[in-house]
Amino acid sequence: MGNIEKKTDSLLRIRQKAEELYLIKESKYSSPLSEWETLKLIHELEVHQIELEMQKEELILAKEAAENAIQKYTELYDFAPVGYFTLTNSGFIIELNLSGSQLLHKDRSKLINSQFGFFVSDDTKSAFNKFLDSVSNSNKNECCEIKLLLEDTALTNVYLTGILSENKEHVLMTIVDITDLKETEFALTESEKRYRDLLNNLDVGIILHNKDASILYSNPKASELIGLSKEQIKEKQSFNPIWEFVKDDYQQLPVENYPVNQIIRTKKPLTNFTIGIKKPDITAVQWHFINGFPVFNAAGDISEVIISFIEITELKKLEIELTKAKESAESANRAKSSFLTNMSHEIRTPLNGIIGFTDLLMRTNLDVNQKEYMSAVNESATILIEIINDILDFSKIESGKLELNVEEINLFDITHHVIDIFKFHAEAKKIDLILNIENTVPKFVLGDSIRLKQVLVNLVGNALKFTKIGYVHLSLGCDLISGDMNQCHLHFSVKDTGIGIKQENQEKVFQSFIQEDCSITRKFGGTGLGLAISNQLLGLMNSEIQLKSTFGQGSEFYFNLTLERGQHKNTSGVQEVKTVDENNTFSCIDYSTKTILVVEDNKINMLLVRTLLKSILPGCTILEASDGEKAIKMYKKEKLDLILMDIQMPHKNGYQTTAEIKHLKKYNNIPIIALTAGIMLGEKEKCLESGMDDYVSKPIIRCHLEEVLYKWLKE
Ligand code: ADP
Repeated sequence: MGNIEKKTDSLLRIRQKAEELYLIKESKYSSPLSEWETLKLIHELEVHQIELEMQKEELILAKEAAENAIQKYTELYDFAPVGYFTLTNSGFIIELNLSGSQLLHKDRSKLINSQFGFFVSDDTKSAFNKFLDSVSNSNKNECCEIKLLLEDTALTNVYLTGILSENKEHVLMTIVDITDLKETEFALTESEKRYRDLLNNLDVGIILHNKDASILYSNPKASELIGLSKEQIKEKQSFNPIWEFVKDDYQQLPVENYPVNQIIRTKKPLTNFTIGIKKPDITAVQWHFINGFPVFNAAGDISEVIISFIEITELKKLEIELTKAKESAESANRAKSSFLTNMSHEIRTPLNGIIGFTDLLMRTNLDVNQKEYMSAVNESATILIEIINDILDFSKIESGKLELNVEEINLFDITHHVIDIFKFHAEAKKIDLILNIENTVPKFVLGDSIRLKQVLVNLVGNALKFTKIGYVHLSLGCDLISGDMNQCHLHFSVKDTGIGIKQENQEKVFQSFIQEDCSITRKFGGTGLGLAISNQLLGLMNSEIQLKSTFGQGSEFYFNLTLERGQHKNTSGVQEVKTVDENNTFSCIDYSTKTILVVEDNKINMLLVRTLLKSILPGCTILEASDGEKAIKMYKKEKLDLILMDIQMPHKNGYQTTAEIKHLKKYNNIPIIALTAGIMLGEKEKCLESGMDDYVSKPIIRCHLEEVLYKWLKE
């Protein structure tokens, strides 16, 4: 403003000066000018010319500035992201910017003088007319949302703002394309609706907590489960006197362990949390299964916590009932196990007597018939004891109580021993019993010899049982495992030319108490437990029996075992004993001076042991104690060389008696030999742990007792 005023002033001054000079000039021409006056006039005129030139330059600069400003304004006007329109009051376009023409998809020149309403969709035309009317008749800024119907595109959503021009003749209008915004808004609304529908219809209670644990939102299922309306739930804290949370054991859940508080404290999701809700109006506890997670904001702080829950009261009841049922089943199982143990003891004790005495009797002078009958009695009792062992093994495996005893074992000894067991039986049936061990098979491996032998005995025994003519072939091969020289992959196979098994029965025979068919059972006998037990034993060694069989032609039962190679050491002293000539060694030592105490509560067993001792060590002194207490007294009184100790005795069992004797240390290292039934889990280990030095399994067989006596009395 100041500049313009200055310029106007200077122009006025120049004008004034020019007028004055003109008057002087006029008066001077009327009378001749002096030389000085002429020079002055010329000077004035020259200065004035310079002034005029300067003014001209200023005007050029001002013009350029004005043109620049116009250019900038035009650019701003044209390229603004908003369409600018100048309309008449009746809606005709007088002027518009480039963005406006682009919005309407037409050249600017073609739009001038056309009616804007022509581009407005039918359904929003009345809104536009109302907008135009309001702008034309007020001084206020007006706005509205309409849709434009353009030739080549779908509907375009636009937002209009309008105001009346200063001269009140035109409507100045801006247009913004809000199609994308609308689409986003629509998608958002749709998705919100979808989630709301989902939440409302979900059969799971959902509660949204604020970061201070107060409730922001709950879905209808949550209301149903909690028994409060949405409004009642809202803004309540999860700790509320209306309900009380309890743990699995019905004890109150501390507030800090409420699901939402746990999530806020740990900042971690909570999964599968069971909670009981106690409410004053309901006597029974309602059980809920809860999951939840925190929602974090951009700064990494918890902004909300979402909890979902389902009611599991019925399931919980079922679980309680199942737990009770499981407990009672377990206690029944314990009762069964203890019954089995007791019964087996009760049955085995007389059987041991029968086997021991028939064995002794068969060594006396019997006639042929008597010998035959006696061996029938002995065999029957042996079969009976094997059946009892099978049933006990089975119940031990079933209850998971059977563990393997892994040590260095001699595969050659084991397989030869299996063949030895059946040699006479095979000869009697005129069946070839063949053992084949490939030369790649290592002699020593780490395994459980008793259980491996048990499996092979069962398979070879079955093969012989079900074969009338031909052969039974036990073979053992070995593949090396590449990269590991310590491991070997053994292949055991028992093949026969027996009756074979029908295809449809081949799976069935591995089930417990199942035999191929009943007629066979009657003909061949058996319990149907052998294969099931063998398979379970192999299961403990990570293997299983496979079967190839053709009905009427024969069967092959085979399995693979991956075992570690042994270090080629002899494993027990027992083997050393075997290599010594018994008669020779016995004759070197005088056993008549030895005193042996037999601790045994069963009279028949006592008689058997005494008889065996007398025949093995004629002349030795035998003392007897019928229970642990008497044994301890005798130990204190007598000078003993060896004790044979029964395990299961009334008042004080064999373990306790041994422990006390060892504790007394009257004289060091008196050998105590257990007379063990050898069937219960860890019984042998328990014997050694309680201080016993060795064991003889019942039924006591003369040669076993001989071996042990020799070993310990010699020492
Ligand atoms: P058990 O021999 O005591 O009956 P197993 O479990 O050992 O019990 O065998 C189950 C059944 O499988 C047998 O009863 C018999 O029907 C069938 N079986 C087993 N081994 C053979 C075999 N080598 N040849 C034919 N059948 C066999």
